[in-house]
Amino acid sequence: MAEAEKKVILTGDRPTGRLHIGHYVGSLQDRVKLQNSGSFDDVLIMIADAQALTDNADNPDKVRESVIEVALDYLACGIDPTKSTIFIQSQIPELFELTAYYMDLVSLARAERNPTVKAEIKQRGFNGEVPMGFLAYPISQTADITAFKANTVPAGEDQEPMLEQAREIVRKFNTTYGDVLVEPEVLLPSREACKRLPGTDGKAKMSKSIGNCIYLSDSAETVAKKIRGMYTDPTHLQVKDPGKIEGNTVFTYLDAFCDDRFFAEYLPEYANLEEMKDHYRRGGLGDVKCKKFLNRVLEETLEPIRTRRHTYEQDIPGVYDMLAAGSAYAESIAAHTLSEVKDAMRINYFDDASLMHEQIDRYADR
Ligand code: ATP
Ligand code: MG
Repeated sequence: MAEAEKKVILTGDRPTGRLHIGHYVGSLQDRVKLQNSGSFDDVLIMIADAQALTDNADNPDKVRESVIEVALDYLACGIDPTKSTIFIQSQIPELFELTAYYMDLVSLARAERNPTVKAEIKQRGFNGEVPMGFLAYPISQTADITAFKANTVPAGEDQEPMLEQAREIVRKFNTTYGDVLVEPEVLLPSREACKRLPGTDGKAKMSKSIGNCIYLSDSAETVAKKIRGMYTDPTHLQVKDPGKIEGNTVFTYLDAFCDDRFFAEYLPEYANLEEMKDHYRRGGLGDVKCKKFLNRVLEETLEPIRTRRHTYEQDIPGVYDMLAAGSAYAESIAAHTLSEVKDAMRINYFDDASLMHEQIDRYADR
């Protein structure tokens, strides 16, 4: 099969903490489905430690410890190392060589225009001192994706600008040097609420760096406590009061996780979420009841993940072996692409015999 026709997935997460339910609905559950669909030639999942260091340079231990946590979360969610490759970004030096060449194809103004990077710079603060690596991380992400000639990137909505920038770089590379790279597409979750799950505070997106998360590895007690403290509708003070659904995090999470079957099981007075929302809007449905229902719905997803995680936690050496094998496999693919890139860029001085002969002939004519 020609390489361009291959169906390849590349996606990943920054090891800045454990994974949360936003990761699950935004990307992880789709990865598991796609992995099990058998319709992809390669599924590669990257733990982006080098990217995590772009805004955590002073905290290498956090990144180091989070690598194994993220790997455990993957396995717990059903990523199967016999079907998917899990690898660690920093172990693939080819990615950083590609990044260096792609940097030449992006202007500073373009890098500064990326709306996700802009929002993150604002949110991180950085005291006015944005690390170069942080501004350039979408370029490095382009290297991660293109090194594997991935065409599909399952991710949340915040990744759309990254993929747009990646496609620009691919087009510029291919028109300048020749057709080597493949243009990737983001694959967003189908449910609207899953594209950017808000945090339990109801404000920004759920994000490790903000700390408004329900983690996949949280105990059942912790999840229940976080749900009890969740943001709802501040004007819905008494059960009888009419309530707002828009911006009400409990209902957003139900939009993301709930199916009709949960009503038959746990809340049979409603046939579906629409009926429950109507009652809340009218008044007469209290937050406590909604939160208890949400807790049951979430536990259906979280309980099996927690149980599988405990099993893998008992085999840490096995997890490291899996990461080492995955990184070796990923490097072999990236090395192949890098050599094609260098050929196209004409920086293959020692592999291209014709280059030397051109020079020999040039000087022989004198
Ligand atoms: P950080 O705060 O360190 O950036 P994060 O929580 O934003 O961490 P990432 O590792 O940056 O997580 O994101 C990994 C993947 O998960 C990306 O595909 C991203 O789109 C998706 N994702 C992260 N948070 C959410 C969310 N709240 N809703 C939907 N998808 C999300
Ligand atoms: Mg992020």
